[in-house]
Amino acid sequence: GSTVGILGGGQLGRMLAMAAARLGYRTIVLDPNPESPAFQVANEAIVAAYDDRKALVQLTSRCDVVTYEFENVPVGPARQSIIGTGLYPPPEALEVAQDRVVEKAFLNGIGIETAPWRAIGSVEELGHALVDIGTDCILKTRRFGYDGKGQANIRREGPVSDAFESLGAKPCILEGKVPFVYEASLIAARGQAGDIKAYDPADNEHSLGILRRSSVPGRVSATVADAMRKTGAAILDKLTYVGVIGVEFFVRADDTILVNEIAPRVHNSGHWTEAACAVSQFEQHIRAVCGLPLGDPVRHSNCVMENLIGDEVRKSESLMGESDLVLHLYGKSEVRAGRKMGHFTRLTAMS
Ligand code: ATP
Ligand code: MG
Ligand code: MG
Repeated sequence: GSTVGILGGGQLGRMLAMAAARLGYRTIVLDPNPESPAFQVANEAIVAAYDDRKALVQLTSRCDVVTYEFENVPVGPARQSIIGTGLYPPPEALEVAQDRVVEKAFLNGIGIETAPWRAIGSVEELGHALVDIGTDCILKTRRFGYDGKGQANIRREGPVSDAFESLGAKPCILEGKVPFVYEASLIAARGQAGDIKAYDPADNEHSLGILRRSSVPGRVSATVADAMRKTGAAILDKLTYVGVIGVEFFVRADDTILVNEIAPRVHNSGHWTEAACAVSQFEQHIRAVCGLPLGDPVRHSNCVMENLIGDEVRKSESLMGESDLVLHLYGKSEVRAGRKMGHFTRLTAMS
């Protein structure tokens, strides 16, 4: 077989399509937005909603394997339409990652620590949960949040109903604020035979809820890296996962770690792998879902990856003059505030 179907045509789908092309695969991308960045590099585009069963069946009939670039693919339609063709990562991973309550329960159920949390369905439940968890909390919608959207801080002043209503009174999760020193992530892959390969963890800085910078190794000590690898492997095995996963962590002052959330896909904090490793996270994902041998995730350089958000993309021409810098632009014609337009990775020698 030689055609890979990709659900989602954003920059992640685009980079997956590029990696697939380099391995000699054809790609078909499905996305409802006709302006999707991935359509520029895919062999074929299907413009359709993710729950359009006819379109999903059409995609399936033309592909040898189907994967996805984002975690909000509707699980029911995908399961019922993508039959007889591999769908990786498994839909069970989607179900876990789509809902912050299911995700936290899954993690705690396999002994992985998270922020203290309560499921919230009403203002009354929010009031009770605040008594349990304390007022230093973040309220998040259970589903569809990204880049810090769908989150509200609980304020001491003002009624607690404000936060709940500001999120549209949707089903929520209340999370205790974790006093972390820094955030880190693990990008790891599991192959069809159950083999696991993990990249070195990244030290991540966010601003306004959006990933700003990932440094490798950054502040991540060998002890913390080891704990992150063990945690990642436990998650991958429990989900009988196939493909690349991103696991976001909080690291406390005593070097203990908690999981913030998991992304059942390639992850922004792994973009540096295209510059500092022989096999990028995108190629690794394509290899895993196509049943090919996984690549060695070893790193040949230290690096810092930075996102180009909104009109920061104007910096790209001056960046082109720098040595040891790998620039990647997503081909998005419209610049919008907060929109990820590209990223770059600066490489430095490993000491
Ligand atoms: P992403 O774009 O990574 O999917 P998201 O919208 O799903 O983001 P989270 O990762 O849950 O949101 O939260 C965004 C950021 O907010 C985190 O990276 C962290 O900086 C902060 N944050 C979230 N939850 C907590 C918490 N319980 N305690 C402390 N900080 C938190
Ligand atoms: Mg998220
Ligand atoms: Mg996150």
